[in-house]
Amino acid sequence: MEVKNKLTVPILDLRRSFKDIKPEVFEALERIFENQSFILGSEVSNFERHCEKYLELPEGSAVGCASGTDALLLALMAADVHEGDEVITTPFTFFATSGAIARLGATPVFVDVDGATYNINLEQAVSKINEKTKIFLPVHLFGQMCALEEVKKVFAEKNIKIIEDSAQAFGSSRTVNNKIERAGTVGDIGCYSFFPTKNLGGCGDGGMVVTRDSKTAERLKRLRVHGSGTTYYHDEIGINSRLDAIQAAVLDIKLKYLESWNEERIKIADYYKLLFKASGLREFITPPEVLENNHHIYHQYVVRVHEKRDELMNFMNENGFGVRVYYPLSLHLQPCFKYLGYKEGDFPVSEQLTREVLALPVFPGLLPAEQEQIVDCMKKFFRV
Ligand SMILES: *Cc1c(COP(=O)(O)O)cnc(C)c1O
Repeated sequence: MEVKNKLTVPILDLRRSFKDIKPEVFEALERIFENQSFILGSEVSNFERHCEKYLELPEGSAVGCASGTDALLLALMAADVHEGDEVITTPFTFFATSGAIARLGATPVFVDVDGATYNINLEQAVSKINEKTKIFLPVHLFGQMCALEEVKKVFAEKNIKIIEDSAQAFGSSRTVNNKIERAGTVGDIGCYSFFPTKNLGGCGDGGMVVTRDSKTAERLKRLRVHGSGTTYYHDEIGINSRLDAIQAAVLDIKLKYLESWNEERIKIADYYKLLFKASGLREFITPPEVLENNHHIYHQYVVRVHEKRDELMNFMNENGFGVRVYYPLSLHLQPCFKYLGYKEGDFPVSEQLTREVLALPVFPGLLPAEQEQIVDCMKKFFRV
């Protein structure tokens, strides 16, 4: 490919949106360093209150913690998940979803996903319910919600709690009966990650658990400080998983911009769709589908490439375009889950997605001209 007009577009460039908030962030950092109060405290509780407002949850329902992985772990602990319990979940997600289940000695029970939305197949999830099922743990993957209202009642009737992995979906929502339902607030407990690359990302690790049940919220607050209600007195065995003041302050600033940044992601996704429509790439590329009534916030913009996905990825990377595969191996085939006894062919849709998905750059500040270059590069590869 000729070097003329060559752009370098990374999969994510956080520097572009940081420009908008730099003075506010530095001001907050100065305040925190003057105070020398770094763990929990008012910075964290302010941020928790603002998250509750944003998510339309009652006061006291948001509990900051050290990461999205810990949010899942704390949620499962607060739901009394133990060895022998089964947790129905998706094999097409980031590892942490199942890792948290397995770390508690419980068994991840995988079901296949939907090829259009990449989210868990709800019908199949329901079919896996048995007397050992303790939790349903769906993931709102890439920023698009699952239609949980379709199965909420079925699980509730069997006393199975729903824990939503909303790590990629802070700000994502779905309109059900003319009401907006936000990712993480539909089930019993919602889990978020503030890893820097997420739509709402800090400057290090961070996470949050939310629940409408005040008893569970109180328990979560104890579990994140070694199960201690009163300092040095331990009601149960918890973990050390707290949000720190610096993360909370930065996240609190970013929360104010989240809606506009998510809107920008949606605009970018719409433009990709338009570009693909006009590109002649139809037989090679399928853009992501959005379920009716969904407010997809495009944590990732993931297309399906029907042939030569890896070759296309290498070609694009060589030409300066950061494209990535999320995820290259379905969780039921991970070496560490061999003991679960799954084999190739068990979840054909998930396996096919691992061979076809390709994430394109999508982030606030990405330029239309850069998107055009990206799609042009794909056209060049497929010679259309
Ligand atoms: C990022 C992510 C997590 C884990 O969050 P961390 O903050 O990195 O621990 C869990 N589940 C999903 C789906 C994720 O994308």
